[in-house]
Amino acid sequence: MRFASAVLVTMFGTVVGSFLNVCIYRLPLRKSVMWPGSHCPSCGAAVKPYDNVPIAGYLWLRGRCRNCRAPISIQYPIVELVTGAVFLGAFLLFDSPAILIQRLLFACAMIVLFVIDLEHRILPDVITLPGIVAGLLFSLLLPPGWRDSLIGIVLGGGSLWLMGELYFRIRHEEGMGFGDVKMLAMIGAFLGWKLMLLTLVLSSFLGSIIGVAMIALNRGDMKYALPFGTFLAIGALVAAVVGDGIIAWYSAFYY
Ligand SMILES: [Zn+2]
Repeated sequence: MRFASAVLVTMFGTVVGSFLNVCIYRLPLRKSVMWPGSHCPSCGAAVKPYDNVPIAGYLWLRGRCRNCRAPISIQYPIVELVTGAVFLGAFLLFDSPAILIQRLLFACAMIVLFVIDLEHRILPDVITLPGIVAGLLFSLLLPPGWRDSLIGIVLGGGSLWLMGELYFRIRHEEGMGFGDVKMLAMIGAFLGWKLMLLTLVLSSFLGSIIGVAMIALNRGDMKYALPFGTFLAIGALVAAVVGDGIIAWYSAFYY
């Protein structure tokens, strides 16, 4: 029974991933995510419902449009696969259906922000601003509770804003976008200030490792290698899943 549920949840996750692909493609273009249905970006032909099956559609079309044979980005099945895996992981980890929905909604937003930041170097307000409100509303009834959520918003947004300001005053160049500020505020709203700080630590750590690796491989200026929002998204996903465990372990270690 639990196995059947897990399979269903994973399949549902890939369908949600398919919708996330639509958001990733259309939100930066300021197009509606609801209407019209999916079209080939090359020839404009409508995607047939039976070709629109997550992952499988890409495989049996061998990564090409049925009409014009233009290649379809590998990013589509990857996003569907990752979303399916995240749904399965969350289903196995969280017993409470309410917390499951809260964390999955958050994870979906992080996946969309990750890809959009990677491709366009922007973090759209249409995700982060409603995200801050949604995170706070969930926290009225669920962990981390509205106090931790509110502190997370102020501390998360505030700390990055302050860092950006200081960087700008000292170096006279834009180091941190305002999109990152709103994104960390959203992370604080959903996860509370403790997991928000953990996200910041994990993201900075990951950023340093990638940065050093880039220098070692001589791939040029690390500052422009990857946008900070992509690291925030990965850090937040890790914090959302295993963050409580890390904090408990750390506390036991030091007190
Ligand atoms: Zn086409």
